[in-house]
Amino acid sequence: MGPVSDEKVNQYLRQTRDLFGDEIYVELDPTPSGTSSIKSTQKPSYSEFPSDLSLFNQHINQCHKCELGNSRTNFVFGVGDPKASLVIVGEAPGEQEDLKGEPFVGRAGKLLDKILAAIDRSREKDVYICNVLKCRPPNNRDPLASEVSECEPYLIHQINLIRPKLIVALGRVAGKTLLNVDNSLKSMRGQLHDYHGTPLIVTYHPAALLRNPNWKTDAWKDFKWIRSIIDA
Ligand code: SF4
Repeated sequence: MGPVSDEKVNQYLRQTRDLFGDEIYVELDPTPSGTSSIKSTQKPSYSEFPSDLSLFNQHINQCHKCELGNSRTNFVFGVGDPKASLVIVGEAPGEQEDLKGEPFVGRAGKLLDKILAAIDRSREKDVYICNVLKCRPPNNRDPLASEVSECEPYLIHQINLIRPKLIVALGRVAGKTLLNVDNSLKSMRGQLHDYHGTPLIVTYHPAALLRNPNWKTDAWKDFKWIRSIIDA
């Protein structure tokens, strides 16, 4: 690797200050100590779906396979780079996402954008953002198992088309839903899991970081690990 320019260093420091204030966190080893081996699972494929992301969106955006199709304002397919190395997955659209038809908007979305900028990525650059469910559950309740079983094939097909190096599940609910376990965020963090053949990391939801800024240090460790994987 060549020398790092002053401008790059200044940009890094500005981004870090935006995220964490005036404190600087230095992590010598970006890999969390609790890293576990990957368990491989069979990858389902859905040949009945279009093999292009925007055509796939058109194909499913009138879906009413579960009740959420009747209560949504907008279907929220996902946004980002169709060839992204990193796919970020939340549990389901919230109120703002339902109104705009886009995942991770509002304050939590802005924080996510800052975190992505700090690892030299953005919604348009090498990242795709979506949710397990494409429609908002009433009052932001957790997804029901029946809703997940109807909607998850859409997510799997999106991931099959994008072929990312890594999936990051934001928050406990997204993590436990994708991993089909009932574990705490603490027990899922710091491990490399497997989601139908693609490595998956679970970290904090940005809304949780807004409520508990003390967790930003651990979140930043996770995102440095994430960057080391997608940069490799
Ligand atoms: S949540 Fe998923 S399965 Fe349910 S209506 Fe929306 S797109 Fe269809």
